[in-house]
Amino acid sequence: MTTTTGAAPRLPADTGADPLLSVRDLRIAFGDREVLHGVDLDVRRGERVAIVGQSGSGKSTLIAALLRLLPGAGHITGGDIRLGSDDIAHADETLMRRVRGGRIGLVPQDPSTNLNPSMRVGAQIADALRAGGLRGRPAIRQRVVELMTEAGIPEAGRRADQFPHEFSGGMRQRILIAVALARQPELLIADEPTSALDVTVQRQILDHLQTLVDQHGTTLLFVTHDLGVAADRTDRVVVMLDGDIVEQGAPEAILRDPQHEYTKRLIAAAP
Ligand code: ADP
Ligand code: MG
Repeated sequence: MTTTTGAAPRLPADTGADPLLSVRDLRIAFGDREVLHGVDLDVRRGERVAIVGQSGSGKSTLIAALLRLLPGAGHITGGDIRLGSDDIAHADETLMRRVRGGRIGLVPQDPSTNLNPSMRVGAQIADALRAGGLRGRPAIRQRVVELMTEAGIPEAGRRADQFPHEFSGGMRQRILIAVALARQPELLIADEPTSALDVTVQRQILDHLQTLVDQHGTTLLFVTHDLGVAADRTDRVVVMLDGDIVEQGAPEAILRDPQHEYTKRLIAAAP
């Protein structure tokens, strides 16, 4: 073992069950520039996994690849992505529309750009519920109010008829969580869902997200640059640096005995 490159990644102890998500030797480039250098990642059903790493380490690129929504000149140059038994890296658009339309739910970083400004929020959640297969106006209306309440929005019955601009940034983020859960995704991905919000609101929303995920038994992939937040709220922490996974393991193990120099620095820098 060397002190400059750190130890080999620690794999989760329980690898018995078929993973929901399986990424193998994934390489991604923007034009000629490779930014993911062969990423391996398994996520088991019901597991809550955090991906931690500084800005530019490739977290969002990895997420975009799972949805096959790489921006600009981004493309997969090698490797495999499986969701259940489906081959995502080579799937056609029909399958990808199904994946994006519900099997993978994404809570995006910036709530301001991801709600339709001219549609009542309840109607947006209702659309997601219909996409998830729910039928019948009263049942949908009831579920809209339930989901908003579960997401921590007070007076949901009244507020369902309001438009996005009538909500604060934190409340809009909660609406997006309700939209994502309405489709009953197999995998819920939150890509730095709270970085646009102040710290108190961030903590509240993360606690809520965790409760919801536990209630629904949803598998969670949670992206953050904050190791403290990740360690509190997940079963496994995956550390990324410059396009590689450099270390992964149970949060307690990572915090107690970090192997990679970068992880040690992250822990030392935590407040
Ligand atoms: P993170 O989400 O961890 O901050 P990103 O996945 O956004 O990191 O970025 C990883 C690398 O890919 C960075 O070097 C970034 O500059 C590059 N990158 C991201 N998006 C694009 C893009 N649209 N065009 C070119 N390069 C990009
Ligand atoms: Mg990012």
